[in-house]
This record gives sequence, structure tokens and C-alpha cells, in this order.
Amino acid sequence: MNDSDLVRRAIQAATGAGADVPIGAVVFAPDGTVLAEACNAREALGDPTAHAEILALREAATKYGDGWRLDGCTLAVTLEPCTMCAGALVLARVSRLVFGAWEPKTGAVGSLWDVVRDRRLNHRPEVHGGVLEEECADLLERFFRTQR
Ligand SMILES: [Zn+2]
Repeated sequence: MNDSDLVRRAIQAATGAGADVPIGAVVFAPDGTVLAEACNAREALGDPTAHAEILALREAATKYGDGWRLDGCTLAVTLEPCTMCAGALVLARVSRLVFGAWEPKTGAVGSLWDVVRDRRLNHRPEVHGGVLEEECADLLERFFRTQR
């Protein structure tokens, strides 16, 4: 699968968000199989940390490797991760991050901060942002339009 396919899969994951802002994340094993997928569930779980990325990383770590490391894995997300999620994917040792829309207000992968490529950290995943950017942004715009 190419990067567009990975983000397309994350868009699918986002559609389960219900009352939550539709953001989806999928963790792929090195061989391309899906280890975990999740959508943002802050409202559904009443949990401020229940971002799609966190939920997907947690589940993936239970299925892959010998503990918590996701070496060789790819995380695909529909939106540029925030500081918490960028920190979490560095801690999980995710090898690649592919994301869709840029998030100028809270983005921590180049927009406001660049947590994943900070040279002071010992792990820096490869990053490909802006993949299927319009489709991912549309998903959010449609959601917020119905909220008003
Ligand atoms: Zn986040």
C-alpha cells in the first residue's frame, strides 16, 4: 500500500467517531497488516487523552512485538498529531508517520511545534504529511458545519 492507501484507511477509521470530532488513526505492522485502528473518542469515553492515535498505539502495542515498542510500524492519521500524540508516537518508537490534513492551531509535526523531528530526542520517525489533505480536511469541515 502506498501512503494514500494508508491515509484512506485512517479516513475509514474516522467515520466511526459519532459525536466526536472525526479523526482516525491506523497502525500498520512492517508487513502492512493492520494492527489497530481507532477514532477520536474523547466524548464517547469522557477521556481527554482518548485521541485516535493514543487508542491505536495502545492497542497495537498489545498485538505487536515483545512489549511496548512499535519498531518498523507505520502510524497513519487523518490529521497532524497534537503534542501529546506526537510525544506518544516517539515514545512508542513508531518508524513512520503518515498524516492527512495540517492542523495550524495545534499541530506538533511541523505546524506549531515539530516534536517528532526534534534533534534533542533519540528517536525520530520518518514523516510524510499532507497526504490526501483535502479529503481529510473535508471530513472535519463537514462535521463542524453540522455542529453549528
Ligand atoms: Zn492528539
